[in-house]
Amino acid sequence: MKKRIMVTGGCGYIGSHTAVALIENDFEVLILDDLSNSNKEVLDRIKSITGIRPKLLEVDLKDSFLCDNMFCYNKNIDAVIHFAAHKAVSESIEKPLKYYHNNLYALINVLVAMEKYNINNFIFSSSATVYGNPDELPITEKNKTKRPFSPYGNTKRVAEEVLEDITISNKDLSAISLRYFNPIGAHDSGCLGELPNGIPNNLMPYITQTAVGIRKTLSVFGNDYPTKDGTPIRDYIHVVDLAEAHVIAVQRLLEKKQENAFETFNLGTGNGYSVLEIINAFEKVLNQKVNYTIADRRPGDVPQLYSDTSLAKTKLGWVAKRNLENMIATAWKWEQNYRQEQNLQEN
Ligand code: NAD
Ligand code: UDP
Repeated sequence: MKKRIMVTGGCGYIGSHTAVALIENDFEVLILDDLSNSNKEVLDRIKSITGIRPKLLEVDLKDSFLCDNMFCYNKNIDAVIHFAAHKAVSESIEKPLKYYHNNLYALINVLVAMEKYNINNFIFSSSATVYGNPDELPITEKNKTKRPFSPYGNTKRVAEEVLEDITISNKDLSAISLRYFNPIGAHDSGCLGELPNGIPNNLMPYITQTAVGIRKTLSVFGNDYPTKDGTPIRDYIHVVDLAEAHVIAVQRLLEKKQENAFETFNLGTGNGYSVLEIINAFEKVLNQKVNYTIADRRPGDVPQLYSDTSLAKTKLGWVAKRNLENMIATAWKWEQNYRQEQNLQEN
C-alpha cells in the first residue's frame, strides 16, 4: 500500500512542487490548505504533470477544532510535511501578531493532532533566516541560530525550539527541520511555478514580472554592502531540488534512519550570487535587458548568506543538481506560460 503523506500548505509554491515529487515517488498525497496564498487550480497543474489530482482539504490550521477534525477523519497518515505559513518578511514587521498567530498556532495545532492520532513523522519548512547575520560563512548547521531580524524569521526559530522540546518529551516523535536558502525556479514543464499574490517581495518573481512587462522597474535594494559588487549575496536553490530533498527526508523518517529525534539540514547549493549577478545571468539566459534601478537598502537584509551543504550530502545523500541557468530558464518559462494562459482566458 502507498504511504500517505499529509502536506500542509501543499497548494503553495514549494508545497505543490513537493506534492509532484512525492506522487512521482509513489506516495499518496493529501493536501491541507486554506488557500490564503494559493489557488485550487494548482491541483489541476499537479494532475497535468503526474496524472493524479491530490485530494484537498480546505482548512485554516489556526483553528484547532477544524485541524483536529482533519486528522480525525483522515486516518492512516504516515508523515506530515508542514509548509503552511505566511512568509512575507516585510508584512511580518508591520503585522507581527498576524505572523505569530498563523505560523505558530498552525504548527501547534498540527503537532497536538499528530500526538492525539499517533502520527510520529514530521518535516518542517524552516529557513536560513534562523542564522540571522551569521558570524561565519559558509553556514553549517553548527552555526548558532540567532534572533532573526523579522517576526516571520522568528516564527521559524521558535518553531524549531518547539520541535526540539517535544521530540525530547515524546519519544515516538521524529522531526526533521529543513532550512531552505533561496528557492527559485519552476517545474520543467512550465505548468507549475511561483505565483505570488500582488506585488512580489522576492527577487526572482520581481525580475520575471519586470521582464514580462507587468512591473516597470526592479529596485535593487542597496549596492553599498561589503560584498564583491556591493549587492547582497544569497544561495539560490531550484525548487525541484528542494522538493526532492523532502522526499528523501520523508523516506529517512519512514525507514527510521534518523540519528537524532530532531535533525536540521541546510538546503542550498553552497554557491553565493549577488543581486547584480542574478540580473546579469537572467539577461544572458534570455538575451533581454532587465530594467532596474539602485534603491535604498531593505530593512532586515543581511549582506551574505550561503550554505555549507555537506551534512545533507553525507546524511541524506542529497545534493542540488540544477544550476542557476536552469533556475532562471524554468522561472521564465513558467512566467510566460502563465501570462499566456491568463491572456487566453481573458480573450
Ligand atoms: P506559499 O505561500 O506559496 O505556500 C504556503 C501555503 O500555506 C499557501 O498555499 C497558503 O495558502 C497556506 N497557508 C498559510 N497559512 C495557512 C493556514 N493557517 N492554514 C492552512 N494553510 C495555510 O509559500 P512557499 O514559498 O511555498 O513556502 C512554504 C514554506 O516554506 C513556508 O513555511 C515558508 O515560510 C517556508 N520558506 C519559504 C521560503 C521561500 O523563499 N519561498 C524560504 C524559506 C522558507
Ligand atoms: N532584492 C532586491 N529587489 C527586490 C527583491 C529582492 O534587490 O525587489 C534583493 C534583496 O535585497 C536580497 C535578495 O534580492 O538581497 C534576495 O531577496 P529575496 O526577498 O528574494 O529573499 P531573502 O534573501 O530576503 O529571503
